[in-house]
Amino acid sequence: MKKDRYDVAIIGGGPAGSTAATLLAKAGRHVIVFEREKFPRFHIGESLLPFSVQTFDRLGVREKLDRTFLPKFGGEIMAACGTKGVKFYFKDGFRSERDRAYQVTRSDFDKLLLDHSRENGAEVREQTEVTKLDFADDRVKIDVESFDGAKSTIEARYLLDCSGRQTLLGSLFNVKRTYDHLQKFSVFAHYENIDRLPGRDATLIRMVRGLDRWFWMIPLTETRTSVGVVMDTATFRAVKLSPQTALEKFIDEQPLMKERMKKANRVSPVYSAGDFSYRNTRLAGERWLLAGDAAGFIDPVFSSGVFLAIMSAEKAADTLDAALRDESKRRRLFNKYSRSVNRIMDIYLTFVNSWYRRSKEFLEVFLNPADTMQIAAAVNAVLAGNEGKSLAIKWRMWLFYFFVYMQRFFALSPRLMLVPKQTASPSSVDPVTAGV
Ligand SMILES: Cc1cc2nc3c(=O)[nH]c(=O)nc-3n(C[C@H](O)[C@H](O)[C@H](O)COP(=O)(O)OP(=O)(O)OC[C@H]3O[C@@H](n4cnc5c(N)ncnc54)[C@H](O)[C@@H]3O)c2cc1C
Repeated sequence: MKKDRYDVAIIGGGPAGSTAATLLAKAGRHVIVFEREKFPRFHIGESLLPFSVQTFDRLGVREKLDRTFLPKFGGEIMAACGTKGVKFYFKDGFRSERDRAYQVTRSDFDKLLLDHSRENGAEVREQTEVTKLDFADDRVKIDVESFDGAKSTIEARYLLDCSGRQTLLGSLFNVKRTYDHLQKFSVFAHYENIDRLPGRDATLIRMVRGLDRWFWMIPLTETRTSVGVVMDTATFRAVKLSPQTALEKFIDEQPLMKERMKKANRVSPVYSAGDFSYRNTRLAGERWLLAGDAAGFIDPVFSSGVFLAIMSAEKAADTLDAALRDESKRRRLFNKYSRSVNRIMDIYLTFVNSWYRRSKEFLEVFLNPADTMQIAAAVNAVLAGNEGKSLAIKWRMWLFYFFVYMQRFFALSPRLMLVPKQTASPSSVDPVTAGV
């Protein structure tokens, strides 16, 4: 049995774990990451948001990302009936300073970030699973087991749980709460030879919104594209098909997807994920913090998962560094961390609730190009990851939700059916570039 003492031990080497590891190592902390898989490994979560770019700069990883991944300049959201669509660009966001994010193959992205942690001095142990935790007043004892069956125990002053949807500590302390109204199911795969728009627009994420489901199409490389669909778990169960057959059927029923996929061939297995929306009621304890999906995951619809993972991991690293410097401030620092991460998750929860509960009204307002009082620009900025703390953004967001609410009673924007017409084709769609 080998014992070592670290400042921080991190469970999980996904974007949250590697971000925190690099920042702590850069701050001179003795940090170790345990990752049970061998990277590269498949992971979903491929479309990023511009507000992560400032963290990539701080990590010192921007050039590597620029060399490796496609830029993402914005998105394209269409109503499934084929009568309305909108393109939005991050450059048009309210007081925008970032015009792009990235579309990434997660196996490569996660490996690049984790290798970067090693290069910056973090100790990384892959194929090593955290199996048991013991909390004392001033430290945490961590039992791990590597792929060859070797067991060891290490000690750290703090533990950062970045175990993703595994939510190791959330389950251990029974603080994980699922969102019953967001019990969704998703099926997805990678394809080659999907038609793209010309020029810069080839990098846009495409989302198609139907009445009871929505689709994504995310360009990952020059030729490879990620395609997926999300619906209520109950709706998926009712079709009684395997994920593979279901994905083929759903695409076939949606002209705005099918039209672009005439020459497409699937080059990955069909994956599925279910019941993915939850939140932990506590994000911090005496010796631990939660970050990324281990803290909570709302829904994939606004591509916020990796942004939230990276944002919370950055805050967690700064919080732990400050707590290591002055133990007496720990409680106040941990409370501040929890408040700020919860606040940002709430912003996305409000969007997601609106997207599903007021599906038609939300989309009808969202797809209306009239940009009164820069409301569209504010929505664009918040969806890009702007925390929306300024009054200028707050009142615009309030008005946006007020319009969505009023749309229930008055047709402020044209009504949409959201049911595919078999005759519809992308050429009948009238995309606009103004935003919401
Ligand atoms: C259908 C779907 C679509 C999505 N689409 C998007 C999108 O377009 N854009 C976006 O930004 N987000 C998207 N997401 C969300 C995104 O996948 C996650 O938010 C993101 O991966 C979270 O990163 P993380 O580092 O917190 O966790 P992860 O990336 O899951 O990393 C956690 C790591 O911890 C490791 N681990 C777990 N338990 C242990 C243990 N006991 N010991 C050691 N290691 C352990 C795992 O092996 C894993 O590598 C989507 C999610 C779903 C379900």
